[in-house]
Formats: sequence, structure tokens, C-alpha cells
Amino acid sequence: MNTHDDDRPVEANHHIQHQYPHKIRFCALCGGEMRVRLVLPDRKPFKVCSKCGFVDFPGPKLVAGCLVVDTGKVLLLRRGIQPQIGRWTFPGGYVDLGETPAQAALRETSEEVGMSVGLGPLLGVYSDPAHPIAAVVVYLAAPGAQAPGLSHEATEVRYFAPHEIPWVEMAFRTTHDALSDWVAMASAQVNLATRVR
Ligand SMILES: [Zn+2]
Repeated sequence: MNTHDDDRPVEANHHIQHQYPHKIRFCALCGGEMRVRLVLPDRKPFKVCSKCGFVDFPGPKLVAGCLVVDTGKVLLLRRGIQPQIGRWTFPGGYVDLGETPAQAALRETSEEVGMSVGLGPLLGVYSDPAHPIAAVVVYLAAPGAQAPGLSHEATEVRYFAPHEIPWVEMAFRTTHDALSDWVAMASAQVNLATRVR
């Protein structure tokens, strides 16, 4: 292999990434062999380095995103990258270490659809038991001055009314669950407004 290749940016290989944490073999700190041990105080099994004692605690990774809502419609994007390329979700992505979930939601929305939004309240935190590697923090947001645009991560963007949401083309279960909550909330507000009038 040409050493020059090592300087090029790389794309994460999802087949490899999904082997974490169950295929961890060696310590990231000292290279010692990792063995499953019971760890105090809860006596739960984790992989522990047989040389330096480093414990690998593989908690879920935090993802943050937002439902940008404009006059009763929610902004979704068609994914331009794996996983779930071609399916619909809302702007969002992994929270970097050192960033707050709110900062990550704003940054990802700006990167993916080119819009500086105003974050509103937290809608909820979502996770999929079948894919427990991510926990998704979802905020409500008000649109910025810019029109939503395309990026390499978003090949199509549009606003959907509750009855237009493409449920069969959802990228993730967490996308489905967050949008279900928003639809329920939006219809409850409509009912309330109807009753008040
Ligand atoms: Zn070690």
C-alpha cells in the first residue's frame, strides 16, 4: 500500500463499524487482550483489558436532530448517504464530543439543508431496541430565513403536512416514532384550537 493513501480522508464503513462493540479484541490504550469480566458496582459483564484494566463501556451514541415546522408542515430530507440511502428522515446526526445536543442539532441542520433554524422545546428522546447504538434527541425548530437546500447528505428536501408523511419510506424507526409524536401533538393542538373557537 502506498503510504500516501493514509493521508486521504476515509469514509466510515458501516459493515466494520457495526462490529463494535461485540468484536472488540484488544485494548485501545495499551493493546492488551480484552476479556469479559464482571465490573463493580453492578457486576455487569464488560470487556476489560487484561494488562492495564481499561473497561470498554459501550453506551449508546447520542444523535441530535430537529423537526423544522413551518405553518403546520414538517421538513424532511431524502438521505443521500448510507445507511438507509434514499429514505426520508429529518436533519440530524451524531453529537461530537465537546458539543451539546442542541449545538449538534443546529450544526447538522445547517450542514444538511443549509438552514439556520431557531431551536424550540425538546420533542423527545428516541431509541430503537433492535439498533441500540444510537439514542436520538429530537427538538422542535422554527425555520430560518433561508429556503432549505440540497447537499450530498440530502438529495431531496420538502415540507410534509401530517397526512403527507411518507411512512413506508422512513429511514429509521426513531424517525417514525418522532414523527408519530409530532403528528399526535399537532392534531391535539388542532383539536384544542377547534374547541376554543
Ligand atoms: Zn490496556
